[in-house]
Amino acid sequence: MKVLILGSGGREHALVWAIARSPRVTEIVCAPGNGGMAQKFRCIPVDLNDLSAMIRLAESERPELTIVGPELPLSLGIVDALRERNLRVFGPTRAAAMLESSKGFAKQFLERHHIPTPNYAVCSSAAEVEKAVEMFHPPIVVKADGLAAGKGVIICTSRHTAAEAAQGLFSGALLGEAAHQVVIEEFLEGDEVSFLCLSDGTHVTPLVPAQDHKRVGEGDTGPNTGGMGVYSTDTLLDPAMSEWILHHIAEPTVAGMAEEGAPFSGVLYCGLMITARGPQVLEFNARFGDPETQAILVRLESDLVDALEACIDGRLAKTPLRWSRGASACVVASSGGYPGSYKTGLPISGLAAAAHVPGVEVFHAGTALKNGEMLTAGGRVLGVTAAADSLSEALARAYQAMAEIHFEGMYCRRDIGYRALKQEQAS
Ligand code: AMP
Repeated sequence: MKVLILGSGGREHALVWAIARSPRVTEIVCAPGNGGMAQKFRCIPVDLNDLSAMIRLAESERPELTIVGPELPLSLGIVDALRERNLRVFGPTRAAAMLESSKGFAKQFLERHHIPTPNYAVCSSAAEVEKAVEMFHPPIVVKADGLAAGKGVIICTSRHTAAEAAQGLFSGALLGEAAHQVVIEEFLEGDEVSFLCLSDGTHVTPLVPAQDHKRVGEGDTGPNTGGMGVYSTDTLLDPAMSEWILHHIAEPTVAGMAEEGAPFSGVLYCGLMITARGPQVLEFNARFGDPETQAILVRLESDLVDALEACIDGRLAKTPLRWSRGASACVVASSGGYPGSYKTGLPISGLAAAAHVPGVEVFHAGTALKNGEMLTAGGRVLGVTAAADSLSEALARAYQAMAEIHFEGMYCRRDIGYRALKQEQAS
C-alpha cells in the first residue's frame, strides 16, 4: 500500500514511523515532510495553505491512503476534495473540522447538544462585546473564532481589557488577520486534560491519555509554545473519569455531528478542564495533537493503518486498539529564543547516538536535510520520545538520549511530567 502524509512536524514524523511498521505499507510519500522524514522517505514540497496544489499532488501520486496531519488543510476541505476524486483519506471533512476551525460553531454546537462547556457569548462587533462582558465576572477569556495556531486565547483581568483584546482581534492588531467573530468565555479553574479519540462517524475509541506542557519555562511558566513536551501514563485519567468523558462528551459530540449531517471521522481531540462541576470542553481539535501524538504512538501495539482505515470504512467498533502498559514521554528540543525569534540552519549532532538509547525514538519537527547534513529549520526542532514500564524510566531514557544531541542554542525543559512523576514516586 502506498501512503501519502501531509504535514511537516513531529506529529507527522511519528505518524510516518507508526505507518512504516505496518506490514501492509510498501511506500510512503511525505509532503512537504522534514529532515527526519527525508532520511527514509521521498518528500515532495507542497504549500499546506494551497488546496489546489495538494489536490494536484495527490492526483499525480495516486496514494491508496492519504493521512492529513495539520488543521489547515482540513479546514480548507482537503478531505472533501480527495474523496470527490475517489482517493481514500483519513481525517474529517471541512464541515466536521469546523469543530476546530470555528470556536463559535463549536460553542453553539456544544450548547445545542447539552455537552458541558463554559458559559459564553459569540460576538460579531465591538458593540456586542461591550454588552457581553457585562454578563461575565473577571477574569474573562477572549478567543478568536478561527484557527490561530494556539495564539488566539487571551485571559483578561477586567471587562475593560477583555473589550480591548476583542477589539485587537477584530482589527487584526493581535493576530495579524482580522477576526470576524470572537468568543467571550467564562474563566474556569481546574486541571487541564487532553482526551483524544478515533472516530468513524459513529463509534468512538479513546487513545491512551497524554498531557502536554505548553509553557516554555520549567514549572509551567513563561509564554505559551506549540508544546515543549508531553507524557502518557495509564494513571493520568482514572477509569471512571475516562468513561464519563467518553459517554458525556466524546460520544455525544460524534452523535451530534452525525445528526447535523456532518459526521466526524478522524481524530477528535477534546481539550478539557476538570472543574469542581465536572469536565468541561475548552476546545476541540479535529486532528492528532503535536507533541501528544509522539508519546501516544510509541505505546500503540496495533497496526495504525488498520485503525485509520477502520475510521474511513466505518468499522472502528470491530477494530480494537492494543496499547503497551506503562508510560511514555516526549521531550522537545527547541531553538534558543523560541517561541520568540531564533536562528535556523544550525548543524545538529549526536542524532545517531541518541537513537541507540533503548526504547528511544527521535522524531524530527523543524529540521532540514541539506547535502547530507541535518540542520535546524524551526522553533521546535526534535521530539525525543521514549516508552518504558514507568514514567520515571521513560523520562530517564528520553533525557539520556537528549544528552547526546547538540546544536547551538538548543533548549529543552528538564521537568517534563514532573507532577505525574511525584505521584508515581509517592505510590
Ligand atoms: P483553547 O485553545 O481554547 O484550548 O485555549 C488555550 C488555553 O487557554 C487552554 O489550554 C487553557 O489553558 C486556556 N483557556 C482556554 N479557555 C479557558 C477558560 N474558559 N478558562 C480558563 N482557561 C482557559
